[in-house]
Amino acid sequence: MPDKTEEHAGITPMDLEEFRNNAHKAIDWVVDYLGNVESYPVLSRVSPGEIRSQLPAHPPVTGESFDSILKDIDEIIMPGITHWQSPDFFAYFPCNSSPPGILADILASGLNVQGMLWATSPACTELETHMMDWLVEMIGLPDKFTSHGSGGGVIQHSGSDANLCALLAAREKKTTGQSNQNGCTGKLVAYTSAHAHSSIEKACMIAGIGRDNLRLIEVDDQFAMCPEVLDLQIRQDLDQGLFPFFICACIGTTSSLAIDPIEEIGKIAAKYGVWLHIDAAMAGTAAICPEFRFINAGVECSDSYTFNPHKWMFTNFDCTAFFVADRAALINALSILPEYLRNEATESGAVFDYRDWHIPMGRRFRALKLWFVIRQFGIEELQQRIRQHIALAQEFKNWVSESSEFELAVNAPLNLICFRHRDGDEITEQIMQRVNNSGEMYITHTRLQDRFILRMSIGQSRTERRHVKNAWQLLLKASKELAENPGV
Ligand SMILES: *Cc1c(COP(=O)(O)O)cnc(C)c1O
Repeated sequence: MPDKTEEHAGITPMDLEEFRNNAHKAIDWVVDYLGNVESYPVLSRVSPGEIRSQLPAHPPVTGESFDSILKDIDEIIMPGITHWQSPDFFAYFPCNSSPPGILADILASGLNVQGMLWATSPACTELETHMMDWLVEMIGLPDKFTSHGSGGGVIQHSGSDANLCALLAAREKKTTGQSNQNGCTGKLVAYTSAHAHSSIEKACMIAGIGRDNLRLIEVDDQFAMCPEVLDLQIRQDLDQGLFPFFICACIGTTSSLAIDPIEEIGKIAAKYGVWLHIDAAMAGTAAICPEFRFINAGVECSDSYTFNPHKWMFTNFDCTAFFVADRAALINALSILPEYLRNEATESGAVFDYRDWHIPMGRRFRALKLWFVIRQFGIEELQQRIRQHIALAQEFKNWVSESSEFELAVNAPLNLICFRHRDGDEITEQIMQRVNNSGEMYITHTRLQDRFILRMSIGQSRTERRHVKNAWQLLLKASKELAENPGV
């Protein structure tokens, strides 16, 4: 039986001392979790509905104690968690956190400001502008993306939002400000690689461009966009009386981390006066290291660029960095000023009002976590961690190419290795299921040239060599067992 007085402790809002006690319990919980994260099965094993079936059908009428809620975290919620913070997580892409990122989020929640306008919390806006300028410097982007000239950066909720905003800015520019006035002509055409992230297609759906007006350009044998096909397609569309307005090139596709030839695509964009947006969601972080900055070759000719510090840069979700060279194009696409938001700072034009740089009005103080992460790690430590991940991935790549069981699907220079079993799709898929069922690791797949391909993504904050080595042993073991006992 729960203690009655304790059960009723939460009826009034927690007083500050109680909050302090509970906050200590919460942080202890998080520290213990991160210390033990390796001991959980990486992929949650619950079946659909299992978590909900344990929750009360109706919300509580009277408040409950913090302890009883925390207890349910352990008993009800934890079995339904897939452990993205596990060092044995090699699926999809990393979703990294770090102590400074977590602490900054606590402070951001404590302040809980609404940074929609400069005036609603000047520090929220100014720190964000400053962090975005720091990032430009850190990953070696051209100066035009800083706030010093006509460009600037903003934190978006996700890469998908950034891709949509880039498309909206491009649309507004191509229609010289008329797309929000008269709607779209139905003649605007967007271009991206056949391997681009699904968010580009979604952006075309949302913006009223339509899927039929998105051209998925063929890729080469390394899954990078073929520029000559792009050029030809644009010419054909112009001949049809259509308006090419947006190209999205990828630095690191989701499927295989392919890098589109940005320089050549940039020349085409310039030739036809089309907005060039670069989606570098995960790979962008690698450019913190000078030796990997080659991935950004050609970005001088782009109009916008995005990457996700919430993937590989140790900054808790959500934090997408989005840069534009001409902020007026973005703001024209997204700004309306209702009477209730009018204020002196805005009217003076001397400040950024970030609500005009993205879709929602309200915004959290997300720059704090970038500030904490960059300051506490320092550039050298960030570089060292990224180098380590890439070195581990390259070592894994060698194991694959030297093995008699597996073969590489692409020649990857960074932290994602795509490979398959030499005997085909069926055994490759069975190996994936077997290692994932073991609970000791988690890996996901893609399809390349219509073949079932495993993706080994190495970038988790806590992944060390022993975890990668263990994953390789598990893959070999599964392959051996399945070869001896097919179909089991
Ligand atoms: C992960 C990814 C995205 C989407 O990022 P979200 O922040 O999850 O919306 C977009 N593009 C690429 C290339 C990605 O890898």
